[in-house]
Amino acid sequence: MEVSIIVDRYDAIVIGAGLGGLSSAALLAKNGLSVLLIEKNELPGGCATGFIRGRFEFDASLHSIPSMDMMGKPDNPYPYFEELGLTKKLEFKKLPNVYQSVFPDFEITLPVGRENIEGALLDNFPKESEGITKIFDRIFATYETIKKFRKKDPSLTQEELQKNVFGYMGKTWGEILYPEVKDPRVRAIISQLWVYGFGLPPKKMDYLTFALGSAHIYQFGWNQIKGKAPTLVNAFVELITEYGGEIRLQCEAKKILTEGDKVKGVLTKNDELVKSDFVISNSNPITMTLDLIGADKIPESYFSKLRSNEVGISLMGVHMGLDVPHSKLGIDEFEIFQNDHYDTDKIYDKAFTLEEPEMQFITTYNLAYSNYSPPGTSVIVLSAPSYADPWYTLPPHKYVEAKNRLADKLITKAEKIAPGLREHIEVVEVYTPLTIMRHTGNHGGTYGGFSYSPAGSSPLRLPPEGPIKGLYIANAWGQPGCGYINCMLSGRNAAKRIIAKMDKPINYVK
Ligand SMILES: Cc1cc2nc3c(=O)[nH]c(=O)nc-3n(C[C@H](O)[C@H](O)[C@H](O)COP(=O)(O)OP(=O)(O)OC[C@H]3O[C@@H](n4cnc5c(N)ncnc54)[C@H](O)[C@@H]3O)c2cc1C
Repeated sequence: MEVSIIVDRYDAIVIGAGLGGLSSAALLAKNGLSVLLIEKNELPGGCATGFIRGRFEFDASLHSIPSMDMMGKPDNPYPYFEELGLTKKLEFKKLPNVYQSVFPDFEITLPVGRENIEGALLDNFPKESEGITKIFDRIFATYETIKKFRKKDPSLTQEELQKNVFGYMGKTWGEILYPEVKDPRVRAIISQLWVYGFGLPPKKMDYLTFALGSAHIYQFGWNQIKGKAPTLVNAFVELITEYGGEIRLQCEAKKILTEGDKVKGVLTKNDELVKSDFVISNSNPITMTLDLIGADKIPESYFSKLRSNEVGISLMGVHMGLDVPHSKLGIDEFEIFQNDHYDTDKIYDKAFTLEEPEMQFITTYNLAYSNYSPPGTSVIVLSAPSYADPWYTLPPHKYVEAKNRLADKLITKAEKIAPGLREHIEVVEVYTPLTIMRHTGNHGGTYGGFSYSPAGSSPLRLPPEGPIKGLYIANAWGQPGCGYINCMLSGRNAAKRIIAKMDKPINYVK
């Protein structure tokens, strides 16, 4: 091993400045630990990044986050963000609707709130009233029971836990939904969030994850962060430096060093050896185990855990800066799910091909903040589920042809909702799963780490403790799961474990 310089002054090193890494570094630094955060890219954020084309600034990933209006939500993240000092630096706006679902012959907008959503569905599908009521009762019974469980509510009985939670372990959402609801339209509408964060259709999606996530969204809706994802990332960077932490960009970890069964530090790409007894990896667990540590040092039980689930789905999409306001195109919903038909399971199967996607979601950012783009313009992003596998096989020129061909099809599809869209494109940028993979290093370009099959439900995801003593993980692959809020919580969980092990006095944050 070649070493050009040895540094020995950090209590902890964090590899990767995605949201898990930023959150853990901020909490460690706030608690008085000397922390070094290293990031291979020239900008922090990982998936939570943005880019500029012409006069437009785009969010690369952020559409919205589950509402922060969540008192009583299990594992409520708001107090954590508040104590970290993050909420002082950010503004959130609540979106009025959960989503709009559009099909060739039908469309519906679901407003925030269980009663409102159920009401909208019952008005439109009176013949399915029994099934709709039963499925909402079931989802919310699971949600409320998990909430009680996490809050250690003394009124929670073993019988209730068994009936509403344990009895569903290993079951898919489809197994629960299909026997109760027969109308394919209702099935598709209630399952619409499959593509948004969960990434699997009813036939494969873990019931418990779907029930917990969707009940919260139905009840409380979405927030948008004012100022795009980089505002959040910059707030973290400010906090980390204000609390005395250090951040180095364009600094890739080449190795995580071990001695016996313990972590000893990190070797960077510049052959700088940074010693520390504690390392947090925001880098994905496949790179972490195979490249950064080495398979011979990893217990087989950890590999069995990694093999017990699949890498999650990715997305392809089209970012467009338009020379007209969205209202000129007739778009008045922030998030529109545009489906070619009602068979969600079949729509999912298309994500393994380079054929035209049978659904996309259309995000109109100016509907959250009217000044999202320069006056008189608007930003619309089209996104469709896609796995990396078919993209891998293409030689470079065919890759460009395929991404432009599919982008063109998505734009044509969107024109059914927004006639004239194409004529108003001032700038356009297309991304695929390979774009996300190149930027974050995540296998398959997954935005969510492991898939949310029953094997990937929150408690079964990777725990914060890594395979070597002193090594922790903070990212979408671990508990509690993917998405902006979950990844920030994964950072909190990893940092808390290190803080608990420090023998010097610390200013502990809950
Ligand atoms: C297109 C898209 C849309 C999305 N929309 C939403 C949304 O609307 N709402 C929502 O909540 N979530 C959304 N997500 C999901 C969310 O962005 C991710 O789940 C989350 O940001 C992942 O964070 P992470 O902590 O796992 O880190 P990642 O984002 O995976 O970042 C990991 C970081 O580690 C760095 N790294 C890796 N290896 C090394 C190394 N060896 N040395 C140094 N650095 C290294 C990488 O460069 C990267 O910066 C979206 C994602 C995508 C891609």
